[in-house]
Amino acid sequence: MVDRWPTLYVDGDWTPPESDEYRTVLDPATGEAFAEAPNGGAADVEAAVEAARRSFETTWSDRSAHERVDVLHELADAVEANADELAALETRENGKPLHESERDVEAAIEDFRYYAGAADKHYGETLPNHDDLMDMTVREPYGVVGTVIPWNWPPMHVADFLAPALAAGNTMVLKPAPETPLCALRMAELFDDLLPDGVFNVVPGGVEAGAALTSHPDVGKLAFTGNSNTGTEVLKSAAEHITPVMLELGGKNASVYFPDADLEDAVPGTVDSAFYNSGEACSSSERLLVHEEIHDEFLERFVERTRELVVGPGDDPDTDIGPLASQQQYDKVTDYIEVGKREGADLVYEGGVPDGDGYFVAPHVFDGVEPDMRIFNEEIFGPVISVTTFETEREAIELSNQVEYGLTGAVWSGDAKRAMRVAENLEVGFVLVNTYFRGGIGTPFGGYKRSGIGRKHAFEETMREFTRTKTIRYNTGSTLQW
Ligand code: NAD
Repeated sequence: MVDRWPTLYVDGDWTPPESDEYRTVLDPATGEAFAEAPNGGAADVEAAVEAARRSFETTWSDRSAHERVDVLHELADAVEANADELAALETRENGKPLHESERDVEAAIEDFRYYAGAADKHYGETLPNHDDLMDMTVREPYGVVGTVIPWNWPPMHVADFLAPALAAGNTMVLKPAPETPLCALRMAELFDDLLPDGVFNVVPGGVEAGAALTSHPDVGKLAFTGNSNTGTEVLKSAAEHITPVMLELGGKNASVYFPDADLEDAVPGTVDSAFYNSGEACSSSERLLVHEEIHDEFLERFVERTRELVVGPGDDPDTDIGPLASQQQYDKVTDYIEVGKREGADLVYEGGVPDGDGYFVAPHVFDGVEPDMRIFNEEIFGPVISVTTFETEREAIELSNQVEYGLTGAVWSGDAKRAMRVAENLEVGFVLVNTYFRGGIGTPFGGYKRSGIGRKHAFEETMREFTRTKTIRYNTGSTLQW
């Protein structure tokens, strides 16, 4: 057992939580405890918000955009120099295969570099004047950004919001998920010498700390990633102070396969999309909508490819699918497998798992999934895939759109016009045509419907999320008096 981080990171200091309560961090591959982390509460959030506000007012807001560019590059360098250690830590606390953690840390580095470039390139406008008045807009930071994140990509979730928030001139209080607090604390440690005290604060904890942050009157902007029901709670608590909220929420994404789809590409791409991160990916395709003409061939190929996947501990280089991140997640996903069987879906493939107490769930493929089944409509967030057939293009679009979510969607077809038609009619924030989601900084990512509000990973849209517009009307007295 390592008890390396028994403290919170507030105002540049490592302090125990006010309650003196701690949570055990478990290794998902064994179910065994390997670290203790502080369980922060409302009093710790209060101290952190106060520190972030003070730091914003006294230090960080004085930094020029050019200085912030340099700082963000230094944060990227610090993550890069410690990438192997961070990836290993992520695998330890989340369970995912090491090669997936390495991609995640790489994405975090890209985040800091990208928004380093953005820090001095977002600015306001001057507007057509009225007589001797000149109107201009300036883009100002909110002050303290309150951020709450889940456990499925810990380093990238930190960077996704911290990088643009700092680039725009804000400070931050971050609450990581109770299951995976260590990557965020380690990143705070790496940034300790690079950021003034109070610019970045980390308060691990559960719902109490999260709710204290999302309802705090001194938080100027909220950036939340998590499930859609929690997103609703966050919106409600933000309502009291009319705090603007960016929400990156759940998905129940569909991929659609027409008879002219190139299955040589589509099948491996879909397997990767469905089972990457053990299916604990908001972007993954949990629903495969297959035209009835190609159903048998598609399913045979899909199962054949899925059969190749190895489930095992994240530190084994042969592992493709690691354990799920927590007991709670294990219970939820295995419960959905039983729901699927009870609903009458046809379980055509179930892989194997290693022995032991880890939270391993094998890939499961259900065929004959009907649109009224729960496994068709509810986000499972695990390696459990539904296959449903359709006859017409219209039916494929309606089936895709019938769920309450709208995060990603994919179309596989050799007919460019049809692919475009379908893409335009999918009610999702990100459509993939003849490809599958593999991240990518610089491209807006976010949801329609109950999948969220706002876009991350983008330049203009994301920088707008972390700034507010002030209009200044200036009496120039410049009307010529001849
Ligand atoms: P969750 O909503 O239960 O928890 C996320 C975070 O919110 C945790 O830190 C948790 O402690 C905190 N929290 C819980 N209740 C809270 C409350 N009332 N007030 C404030 N904070 C609270 O999420 P989860 O189910 O553990 O995470 C997985 C979900 O995240 C999935 O739905 C997934 O699709 C979604 N997700 C979305 C994206 C995206 O970019 N759209 C990315 C990753 C994950």
